[in-house]
Formats: sequence, C-alpha cells, structure tokens
Amino acid sequence: MKQFDLVIVGAGIIGLAHAFHASQAGLNVAVIDRSPNALGASVRNFGMLALNAQAPGSQLSSAHKSLRYWQAIAPQAGFELRQSGCIFVARAPEEMAVLQEFAQSAKMAAHGAHLVASEDLGRYCPALNADRALGALFSAETWKVDQRQANAKMAAWLQQKYDVSFYFSTEVQEVSPPHISTSAGNFTANHVVLCGGDEFASLFPDAFAANGVKSCQLQMMRTHPQPKEWRLQPFVMGGLSMSRYSAFSSCPSLKDLLTMQAQRFQPHIDHGIHVIIAQEPDGSITIGDSHAYGDGRILARSSEVDALILAEAADLVHLAEPQIAERWLGHYAYLPNATSLVFSPADGVTAVNQTSGQGMTHGFSIAKDVIADMVR
Ligand SMILES: Cc1cc2nc3c(=O)[nH]c(=O)nc-3n(C[C@H](O)[C@H](O)[C@H](O)COP(=O)(O)OP(=O)(O)OC[C@H]3O[C@@H](n4cnc5c(N)ncnc54)[C@H](O)[C@@H]3O)c2cc1C
Repeated sequence: MKQFDLVIVGAGIIGLAHAFHASQAGLNVAVIDRSPNALGASVRNFGMLALNAQAPGSQLSSAHKSLRYWQAIAPQAGFELRQSGCIFVARAPEEMAVLQEFAQSAKMAAHGAHLVASEDLGRYCPALNADRALGALFSAETWKVDQRQANAKMAAWLQQKYDVSFYFSTEVQEVSPPHISTSAGNFTANHVVLCGGDEFASLFPDAFAANGVKSCQLQMMRTHPQPKEWRLQPFVMGGLSMSRYSAFSSCPSLKDLLTMQAQRFQPHIDHGIHVIIAQEPDGSITIGDSHAYGDGRILARSSEVDALILAEAADLVHLAEPQIAERWLGHYAYLPNATSLVFSPADGVTAVNQTSGQGMTHGFSIAKDVIADMVR
C-alpha cells in the first residue's frame, strides 16, 4: 500500500501546478497518470501564456500570478519560456476601430500594449503580410512556453526538488478517500485532487454531468521548421481573435465587428475558428485553431476546417516553408461562461478544471487557491 497526504489524478499542467503548490505547503504528494507521459491538452496547445487575452481585473491578475510561477520554475526545470509578445493585426476598418478603442482605454496600460502603424509592422514581425494590414496592436505581455518540453521537465524537476512521486501508465479506477484503486494497486491519501482534463468523466461522471461540463475539440497543425534566418517572434492573430478574447469585450465597436464577421466569416464562426500563429523553438510554426463543443470526444477531423484555418493564416503571414508536417486534435473541458470549475464530488475529493481553454495561462493561480483551502 502506497501512502501519501495528497494524490493527484492527471499529470497535465493543472495536476503539476497542484503538485507544486502542495509540495511547497509541505504535503507528501503522488501524481498518477494513465499515459506513459503527459499526452493531453497540456502538450497539444500553443504554449501561450495569454495575458493579452484577459479582461483587466481578476482575470488579468490571475494570469499575472501564474506567470510569476512559470518564470520561477522554467530556468530551474530547464525548459524554454520567452517573452514573445503578441500582435493583433487589423485588416478591416471594423477591426481597426476595436483596436483604436482598446488603445484609448485604461486596458492598454494594463496589457502593456500599443498601436502600431501599418508602415512600422515590419519592425515587429517582418513575416506579416503588411500590404493587407491597416495597423495592429502589439502587446509585450505575452509569453511562449515550450509546451512539448515543459510538462516532462517540470515533472522531473518536481520529483527531484520536492520528492513528488510520479506513477505513469497507471489508471485511477476508483476514488473514495483514504482509498484509491489503480491499475497498479492501491494507494491511500486523505485528499485527492482530480485533474483529468477533458477525461473528467472517467471518475464521478454523474457529478461532472450535473455541473454541465462539455468537451471542446480543436484542430491544430504545424509546419516543417522555417529557414534559420526566418523568425516570427510574436504570436500573430487577426480580427477573429479580437471577437473571441474578453480583453476586447467592452469595446463599443465590437458589435460592428461581429456584424461584419457574420456577413464575411460565417463558416469560421460556425467552426469556432480564430487563427493563432506561433513559432516553436525548432523553428516550426504552430497554426490553429477551431472549436467544436460536445458531450464527448468527436475525433473526426474536418478538412474544410483545416483549409479555412490555413487560408486565414496565409492572409496574415507569409511563411517561408508553408508545408504542413503534422496535424493533431486537442481537447479540453469546457463550461460556458466560466473560466474554471472547482467542486467536491465526494468527501476528501476536489475536482479542478480550467474551462475556457486557458489552463496554461491560469493553472498555477487556480491550484494555489485550491491548495490554500486544503491546508487551511
Ligand atoms: C489545441 C489547444 C490549444 C490550447 N492553447 C492554449 C494556450 O495557448 N494557452 C493556454 O493557456 N491554454 C491553452 N489551451 C488550454 C490548455 O491546454 C488546457 O486548459 C490545459 O492543458 C488543461 O490541463 P489539464 O491538466 O487539466 O488537462 P490535460 O493536459 O488534458 O491532462 C489531463 C491528464 O489526466 C489524465 N487522466 C485523466 N483521467 C485519468 C485517470 N482516471 N487515471 C489516470 N490519469 C487520468 C490524462 O491521461 C491526462 O494526461 C489549449 C488547449 C488545446 C486543446
């Protein structure tokens, strides 16, 4: 029998963030994951610490708080975290109006953002299709983490520095603290935190269903590495991201942008497409994404959606090497109008999900509060 103070189910970023805070609070922690290594949303995303996407107030301060943990951990654990910045490019007057209103508001200072004239765009991102751009908003407060390396390196660091025990290729089958049954035998712990991502229904399915949690499926792609001298630097986005991110939600012109998009971008809206373009440490370019909501994983991939994403990306950026080398699906737990779900489905059990597709950005803040409540 393996005994711990706390067992965490799931070794994605939410599970690791809980392991970090719990270890710092002096708890003896085990993390159990059914995969041989983390394979879920935490390694399938853009690695964007999206301070640029947050509304000022509690959202932005949660993202700031999380960022400070990433900054402290990355150099110790040995994975890349760079201040990439982010550029929102306006190619239509309705998009430019939203950026200008954002620029005139106090939000600008909160985001460390400024407007960029079309003739200056090349200085921020030479690869942009500047002839199509009316101007842009550059936000320095956006960070890029190496999402494919970070999870594994953070797990190794937690094990080495805090003596966190990891059990991979081990499925948690039943949880009734202090008893936890797994495919590798029984564990005991006074507390269990469920961080199962979109596989939330594997334990306490009825309690999750009662909370109305859905699954969101996203389509992602990656190019071959670009030539060495070709650098993207910031994340690049267009108008479809302005209407998606709550950072812009109080701009009065947003309604005109939505009207324009309903006329010209209906297929994109139907598939929840907003295009993000990011460069990885090996020089390849990650391009996504779409959003399909349902009660479980959908799994089918739509070539129409891929084509819409790639056409929009090509309109924003001129890639030296546009050929797609990799396509994958990602999934996260989704709750309409809520950024997180924290509840107790049974005594001694806390379920934690980030539910708006921003777990990399907010994970450490959410976990900090959960662990503080637990050890209070
Ligand atoms: C395509 C895509 C792009 C995204 N882009 C960004 C971004 O740029 N920035 C951002 O902030 N967020 C982004 N997100 C959201 C972010 O990736 C997620 O919010 C976050 O990774 C969720 O982490 P998690 O630990 O909850 O889930 P996961 O990473 O999915 O981990 C859950 C783990 O639980 C394990 N598990 C489940 N049930 C059991 C069980 N019974 N026994 C054992 N193990 C179990 C699974 O094997 C899995 O490894 C994106 C998401 C996707 C899909």
